[in-house]
Amino acid sequence: MAGIYIHIPFCRQACHYCNFHFATSLHYKNELVNAVSLELTLQEKYLENVPVGTIYFGGGTPSILNVGDVAAIMEKVKTVFVVTPGAEITLEANPDDLTEEKLIGWKKAGINRLSIGIQSFFDEDLQWMNRAHSAKQAIDNLHLAKRYFDNITIDLIYGTPTLTHEKWKQNVDTAITLNIPHLSCYALTVETKTPLDKMIRQHQKENINPEKQSEQFLLLMEWLDEAGYEHYEISNFAQPGWRSRHNSTYWSTGASGQGKNYLGIGPSAHSFNGAERQWNVSNNTIYIESINRGIIPFEKEVLTVVQKLNEYIMTSLRTMEGLKLERLDKVAAEKLKEASRKYIDSGLAKLESNSLILTRQGRLLADGIAADLFF
Ligand code: SF4
Repeated sequence: MAGIYIHIPFCRQACHYCNFHFATSLHYKNELVNAVSLELTLQEKYLENVPVGTIYFGGGTPSILNVGDVAAIMEKVKTVFVVTPGAEITLEANPDDLTEEKLIGWKKAGINRLSIGIQSFFDEDLQWMNRAHSAKQAIDNLHLAKRYFDNITIDLIYGTPTLTHEKWKQNVDTAITLNIPHLSCYALTVETKTPLDKMIRQHQKENINPEKQSEQFLLLMEWLDEAGYEHYEISNFAQPGWRSRHNSTYWSTGASGQGKNYLGIGPSAHSFNGAERQWNVSNNTIYIESINRGIIPFEKEVLTVVQKLNEYIMTSLRTMEGLKLERLDKVAAEKLKEASRKYIDSGLAKLESNSLILTRQGRLLADGIAADLFF
């Protein structure tokens, strides 16, 4: 089964921490939607007729689009590719875009899962992040969304200077009380060249405190475990049966690159076919002009055996199932076992059924441990 990701590169305002590709001017929105449709046709052969099991509208802010735009793109996807019945079709939405009309329209267009960028239920945090929505919109419109969709995931951010442990508890409790089946919870990171980075360097904003962030991650794991959520990927928690199938596509790629292929459409979108990774230009105007000339503006790299192995280490260690040693050749498996000994001895990882799995403490250091184990 393959996946399709569609990048909609527009946002109402720039969140200070964000380093994704987006524009705050909607000037080229129609041209972009047309170009996305055109690229779908140009990429007809990419998935080699493998049926599409998941479609994901990400961004940016796909909920900025009119219902008609989403419906037109969906129609095009179905015309060009074989979409399996029951495919998971997700649309990322911001709370301020959630209206009854849009919710009904998206559902009619085939969207069956919403990913809502809540981040916090407190105005103080939202303002600190420069989010476009208010706490009231977050709660009211989440209630509204629940009337039309049962498959909902929300994003929450922890580790911001304004977020106390008490507020963090309230944010998580609100999600649990609302019975939201899937949560993506991210530690705020300060990416270079973002407004947040600049503000911190100019002492206009307080920096993040890594210790507080680690504490909030540990608390989160505890609370959600008690509430019955599976911590199936480092940032993702699901009630049983509600894992994201689309994201699992990215995480299920095996040590030799086997796994599910995905096609990325739109500026900055990435694609992977088991051997090569390619990514479209991160510029709306260049993207639109090029697509209109029938040329997909992308760069690509052919992954080496070692790169594939390292990617497998990186992604698998972030999952609940861990790194399956049987997916590595004998020599690599032995080397990895040896190198991971110190993490097992110090309680950061464990070996279970021939899989290397990070413990809660280990999850705090997942990226560093993975990097240390790289070949
Ligand atoms: S809405 Fe999302 S993509 Fe847009 S600026 Fe904010 S975090 Fe970035």
